[in-house]
Amino acid sequence: MIDRPATCRPSAKSTDSPQASRAGPRLNKTIAVIEGDDAAPEAVRPVVELLNSLQLGLNWVYPEVGDVAEAKTGSTFPDAARAVIDAADTTLFGSTSGKSGAALGYLRWGKETFANVRPCRYMPGCASPLRQPEGIDFVIVRENLEDLYVGAEGPLEDLAALNLVGRTIRKPVHELGDGRYAIKAITRAGTERVVRFAFDLAARRDGKRKLTCATKHNMLRATDGLFLDVAREIAADYPEIEFESFIVDDFACRMIREPERFDVVVMPNQYGDILSDAAGGLLGSLGLAASGCFGADYAYFEPAHGTAPDIAGRDIINPTATILSATMMLDYLGLDSAAQRIEDALARVYASGAVLTPDQGGSATTTEFCAALARAL
Ligand code: ATP
Repeated sequence: MIDRPATCRPSAKSTDSPQASRAGPRLNKTIAVIEGDDAAPEAVRPVVELLNSLQLGLNWVYPEVGDVAEAKTGSTFPDAARAVIDAADTTLFGSTSGKSGAALGYLRWGKETFANVRPCRYMPGCASPLRQPEGIDFVIVRENLEDLYVGAEGPLEDLAALNLVGRTIRKPVHELGDGRYAIKAITRAGTERVVRFAFDLAARRDGKRKLTCATKHNMLRATDGLFLDVAREIAADYPEIEFESFIVDDFACRMIREPERFDVVVMPNQYGDILSDAAGGLLGSLGLAASGCFGADYAYFEPAHGTAPDIAGRDIINPTATILSATMMLDYLGLDSAAQRIEDALARVYASGAVLTPDQGGSATTTEFCAALARAL
């Protein structure tokens, strides 16, 4: 049995309360499933089948989005799809390459799922490129809504009216020449909520009780400087959690050199996006990188990887990231023991090494891998 830290439960939804244990697992939860694009459905479908076979009282609904919805309604994300998501307890999302992107935008910005939780935990048997990957068990909490991803970009000439003089280039930005800008927006409130989420997670996890903050505050003094200042302020409310901060490039190096020293790491959106994929690389594949996106009253779950278009249709996508995203989802729904059972079985499949997908050095298909997992269960 592996120790499974509570990587994903926001305190409001925590099922560790005595009341929840007395009541047992809550049944009849409805999950909206969006299978995603390219190879993503090849991972999502067997995972849904597997969860179904456990008879956990889960109902599955499939909002029509993307191409199918567009053909019928003219919209890739019609109101009917939104209503299905709103009525469900949570959403399991395969990766999108754009066609189901509007639905993803709704799940993220519409539902304000501000904390993207991306665990990085080594399971013996994973094809990690590290000589000693044992002990890697940390979680990146990526701010999920702000930073450079607010989507405000345009031609530099549009900035002429502002006459902004760059601190380093010391001339008006719009005079740099033909080019583009992107806005990086960090708010106090947005930072506070994700940092508190990360501290709460560090307090709940059976880990090192440490929060690391990674920013580029030496260059981006106003924006990343604010993120770090807010994190330092909030650290005072959590004296039992050790707090440390690194400049993000230094953090990247440490994450590869000594990953086992980290517990929970919080960072602005773009760094979290990039470094959590890099963290997947520490384990040996993006196919192992799970994620859950949490808001104040909603959460959805998706593998951290993209749609893997280069292997679409070949039945070789590693479904582990989707499986681990689904176990985070089960935790969220109060089905902790089912989540633990699945993760224990997954650990046994990796430890045996007999049935692994090609990204892990094996030759099994996705279907064979899922069958092995079902047997291990
Ligand atoms: P995005 O822009 O959405 O991140 P991408 O094309 O940049 O997408 P991925 O789709 O994540 O990135 O794929 C990067 C590489 O990792 C591809 O070679 C892909 O096949 C591989 N890959 C991603 N996910 C998996 C998986 N679950 N199993 C096996 N290989 C995967």
